[in-house]
Amino acid sequence: MIDLGGRVALVTGGARGIGEAYVRALHAAGGRVVVADILDDDGAALAAELGDPARFVHLDVTDADQWDAAIRAAVDAFGAIDVLVNNAGIANAAPIEHFTLDKWNAVIAVNLTGVFLGCRAVVPQMKARGRGSIINISSVEGMRGSPGLHGYTASKFGVRGLSQSLAVELGPSGIRVNSVHPGFIRTSMTSRIDPAHLDIPLGRAGDPSDVAGTIVFLASDASAFTTGAEFVVDGGMIAG
Ligand code: NAD
Repeated sequence: MIDLGGRVALVTGGARGIGEAYVRALHAAGGRVVVADILDDDGAALAAELGDPARFVHLDVTDADQWDAAIRAAVDAFGAIDVLVNNAGIANAAPIEHFTLDKWNAVIAVNLTGVFLGCRAVVPQMKARGRGSIINISSVEGMRGSPGLHGYTASKFGVRGLSQSLAVELGPSGIRVNSVHPGFIRTSMTSRIDPAHLDIPLGRAGDPSDVAGTIVFLASDASAFTTGAEFVVDGGMIAG
């Protein structure tokens, strides 16, 4: 069992889905957790259920000012942010000739620009303390192409590249940056997809809790020598 010993983690998109599982796992491992989301009721209810030490902050990850306010609120509450989990994401799909610019801009804004803004906002206080762990949620769609998922795939490849450039730049400052690449996980994002046609060697779709162990590991000193790495958590789906 990993003991996070009060380490402070901010999880974007933490109110539901896989992000909620990250919040619960980090809290259960002894972390102090900030749930950051646009879903105010769900996020506040989750933080209230967990009690101390958990907080909710409203955050639209596409808004730089809201990022500054969320970081300030987390630091006011807990003194620092040790771990940032950039998990908030959306998905959309259409054949390329019907893929509107609005669709493209929406998915890039949340999935890629949101991660950039979060890293930029959190780094100054991590640098000042000489340590930190940034965990960026990409996808197996950040490692291969899939029909129709043009904006989503581009955003998730982008998260992978951004994580690597940051790992190289921030390593000397004691800040680790890794990307995590879940496969098919049952959430509202995937509720309309039937996993039966997916060839998953472990023989089942994933649950949000299946990814959470990797997040707790990357939040902890058990991963102290790990940066710039890509963690595929997909039941073996893209190995074949
Ligand atoms: P979900 O739709 O269940 O949850 C997404 C969360 O992000 C929600 O709480 C939502 O309110 C929040 N969110 C959306 N836009 C936001 C914004 N602008 N600012 C702040 N929060 C915002 O989705 P999920 O399946 O839990 O996905 C979580 C992450 O995991 C996403 O980045 C997704 O791309 C990635 N992922 C999911 C799967 C999967 O199979 N479900 C696979 C690979 C990667």
